[in-house]
Amino acid sequence: MRSLVTGGAGFIGSHLCDRLLEKGHDVICLDNFFTGSKQNIMHLLDNHNFELVRHDVTEPILLEVDHIYNFACPASPVHYQYNPVKTIKTSVMGAINMLGMAKRVKARIMQASTSEVYGDPAVHPQKEDYWGNVNTIGIRSCYDEGKRVAETLMMDYHRQNNVDIKIVRIFNTYGPRMAVNDGRVVSNFIIQALRNEDITVYGKGNQTRSFMYIDDLIEGVIKMMFVDDFIGPVNVGNSDEFTIYELATKVIELTNSKSKIIYLPLPKDDPTQRKPFIRLAKEKLGWQPKIKLEQGLVKAIAYFEEQIKEGS
Ligand code: NAD
Ligand code: UDP
Repeated sequence: MRSLVTGGAGFIGSHLCDRLLEKGHDVICLDNFFTGSKQNIMHLLDNHNFELVRHDVTEPILLEVDHIYNFACPASPVHYQYNPVKTIKTSVMGAINMLGMAKRVKARIMQASTSEVYGDPAVHPQKEDYWGNVNTIGIRSCYDEGKRVAETLMMDYHRQNNVDIKIVRIFNTYGPRMAVNDGRVVSNFIIQALRNEDITVYGKGNQTRSFMYIDDLIEGVIKMMFVDDFIGPVNVGNSDEFTIYELATKVIELTNSKSKIIYLPLPKDDPTQRKPFIRLAKEKLGWQPKIKLEQGLVKAIAYFEEQIKEGS
């Protein structure tokens, strides 16, 4: 079995490469290293079943593979808003190129979609049949709308060309191998706490998110790829919901930090609430998350402690 992981040198992609190699697959990791790093896949470079291709998914490519995991796309608001035109090209042209390849070589293809397709949701918790509440012209739109178009492309290639597709809507995921400069909330708070710097809560901190540890996500993604007769979309997320203020206090407590919480302006269009409804994943995949926030945070803290030590 040959698998292609686009975005394979990123946070999620590199864990996926690990897991597929453990399963005995040949793995091609394709990445342009925008937010990914060689460090994430360094330990795989000597593995004979692993190949690294430096390539940008906005350009066509043809590889003979059985499974494609299309995960290439910056995911942190800081990074996806840095070059918004490139972000939307990555989602849209990336999906077109990967779907074209899947059609040609008859591969099964999975799209890493996101809870962001629900935008600032008016329905809570979010179920797969909710169409979402997304601003088409805001600063998050390059990511949200790009991912929505990618889902549309997947469905159209499926209906029109019979491409074997899978759509997973991933909710906020965290863990080892997030970049120190990633900018998302869990890594920001942990790094700030470990350095005894101010914890930067945006807005009042009463907005909510539901955080999933990386190992749970990988389990769900693999189950989805290998199940037949179910294309999704399916929510993959942890349904334990926390305010951002609660997250900040938990991180301070677990790191024994001297950090103080400070309040900064809330970025535009920041969703006020987010929590997945996961019955479909339970029924179709026999999957549900196992790792509680506190357990996952302890593992992530240990990772970032090492990173900070190595960097200093
Ligand atoms: P990440 O930024 O760590 O990884 C993204 C990877 O894609 C990086 O290695 C980057 O270099 C690569 N990449 C970006 N643009 C590319 C391009 N044009 N061509 C080739 N490679 C490119 O982010 P992540 O958290 O690992 O996210 C991976 C995927 O999962 C993304 O598609 C993201 O939208 C999706 N996702 C993640 C989360 C989350 O909470 N982590 C939630 C929902 C969806
Ligand atoms: N956030 C915060 N401080 C930070 C980074 C993020 O308060 O240093 C907030 C952000 O405003 C949002 C939530 O944490 O409400 C999650 O942000 P993140 O960038 O991790 O992901 P999002 O779910 O918004 O894409």
